[in-house]
Amino acid sequence: MSARAATAPPASPRLTAWRLLANNRLAAAGLCLILLIALLALLVPLLPLPDPDATAPAERLKPVLTEGHLLGTDQLGRDILSRLLWGARISLAVGLTATLIAAVLGSAVGIVAGYAGGRADNLMMRGIDMLMAFPYILLALAIVAALGPGLMNALYAIAVVNIPFFARNVRGVTLGYAHREFVDAARLSGKRPLSIVVTEVLPNVLPVIVITMSTTAGWMILETAGLSFLGLGAQPPQADLGSMLGEGRAQLFTAPHVSIVPGIMIFLIVISLNLLGDGIRDVLDPRLRSGALARPGPVTHVAPGRAAPRNTAKDAALSIEGLETGFRRGRDVLPAVRGVSLNVRPGECLGLIGESGSGKSVTALSVMGLVASPPGLIRNGAIYLKDEDVLTMPETRLIASRGSRVAYVFQDPLTTLHPMMPVGQQVEEAIAAHQLLGAAERREKAVTLLDKVGIPDARERARHYPHQLSGGQRQRVGIAMALANDPEVIVADEPTTALDVTVQARILELLRDLQRERGMALLFITHDFGVVSEICDRVAVMKDGEIVETGETRQVLADPQHAYTKRLIACVPELGTGDRFLERVAGLFRREAQVS
Ligand code: ADP
Ligand code: MG
Repeated sequence: MSARAATAPPASPRLTAWRLLANNRLAAAGLCLILLIALLALLVPLLPLPDPDATAPAERLKPVLTEGHLLGTDQLGRDILSRLLWGARISLAVGLTATLIAAVLGSAVGIVAGYAGGRADNLMMRGIDMLMAFPYILLALAIVAALGPGLMNALYAIAVVNIPFFARNVRGVTLGYAHREFVDAARLSGKRPLSIVVTEVLPNVLPVIVITMSTTAGWMILETAGLSFLGLGAQPPQADLGSMLGEGRAQLFTAPHVSIVPGIMIFLIVISLNLLGDGIRDVLDPRLRSGALARPGPVTHVAPGRAAPRNTAKDAALSIEGLETGFRRGRDVLPAVRGVSLNVRPGECLGLIGESGSGKSVTALSVMGLVASPPGLIRNGAIYLKDEDVLTMPETRLIASRGSRVAYVFQDPLTTLHPMMPVGQQVEEAIAAHQLLGAAERREKAVTLLDKVGIPDARERARHYPHQLSGGQRQRVGIAMALANDPEVIVADEPTTALDVTVQARILELLRDLQRERGMALLFITHDFGVVSEICDRVAVMKDGEIVETGETRQVLADPQHAYTKRLIACVPELGTGDRFLERVAGLFRREAQVS
């Protein structure tokens, strides 16, 4: 425990969010640039700049770097630098205010519609649809035309046309939360709808609102500039970036700097806001953290200089030697599996037992390179399938071995089965992945497999969808898929944890019979010694990423050596022992606490 505590830096989430943003170089550059522009725009009244509206016909169209006019002058002799900074101030203020208005109104509509549902939702969303049905810029033009040109009216127009974006996004997310258990619980506790929306729903949809804001702010500044460019926004002599661009258009060939300078400024503002927006989105979305911006690769990364120990169990179907798998976090690699060695012979069942988080699943997934990378990394060790090192296999061969040489059965069959596909077809898919068979033959084989794993009336059942089957039947389908290509090794990762005790017993019996009959090696992962004693010939006990004890199941049960093993064994309840059972377990935990 102490080792793990030392490797995981206890950083506050706030700090990590900042660090993540800083780590994303593009986003950090965007942040710096927009801060710089915003600072200049804020300080512009204090800077020693000429009056942006003071005309000087004698100084017309001076080029860039003229004495007294760093960025030259425009067609009326006004200082472009001064106009640029004042203009950026206006553009930023209008764009950001419009974003804020659209975000508040749009999100309010979205949350209320999503939470209320039914007729209110229908009414509001059809209104939003009507807004969306108009071409975007045309609607803004129409609004400005109706209200009259001017900066404030342009602001309203931009805000209104952007309301649907927020409303649609936020409604979608709210719908997902409106009937979640914690919201129902709040309802049952007698909270009023408004208070539920504010305290339960809003905090959950807030990240989406912030993300939508950060990704649309740049776009809104561009639209404001567009309206001003058309002469519908800022009115002379006041200038924003769009109207400067519009005025410079006439001199595009004689004095290009008059329009290029504001053009570059718009570009810089929009690109820095967009980069920053992307960065904020990545920080707020936990799935995109830990550098996993790229999709995980097809196989787990293996460290180039890994130590590959020799195979010590030549006759084993699967032999793992000194496996070390970790997860990258920034520059560090947090170890999850530290030097695990184990082997399973054909026709044998090895139980891998340990409490939750001890590294059992990571060990199992490492076998076929299924640990997601990034962040997963196999640092050391070798994995032998009949004396062939999996970690040196070409990628194509490794992928082809999945399901044909090593097959997996996972814990929760409801999440591993495709919800929209009949189960028979899913078994057929597993067959088709590795065998060239005709459609009829494949269907026959799938039905035989389903029958084999004890699904009654298999031909009829093959047409059913996963949700129409019971938990035990779904797991039987999972086992049928694993058996589809007669693998040498089956890795079963807590296959019965989600099932009730009687169904669990029958699934275990099925697995044991099939494994004996077909002479497969079975690596059976569990946290329950009761299950191990049912089906495993040997057992390996895992704690904090290491194997602390291995041996024949009977022997380990009769005479456990490690204190942790004793504790796991004590945790198997016996009928009729009642309170004495709890005392025994609590006593073992106390003793352990005193020792460590
Ligand atoms: P279990 O023994 O319950 O199957 P696992 O093998 O799933 O445990 O996990 C072992 C350790 O690896 C845990 O501490 C877990 O936090 C860590 N871990 C698992 N998957 C990831 C991941 N994708 N990123 C970071 N750490 C992970
Ligand atoms: Mg697990």
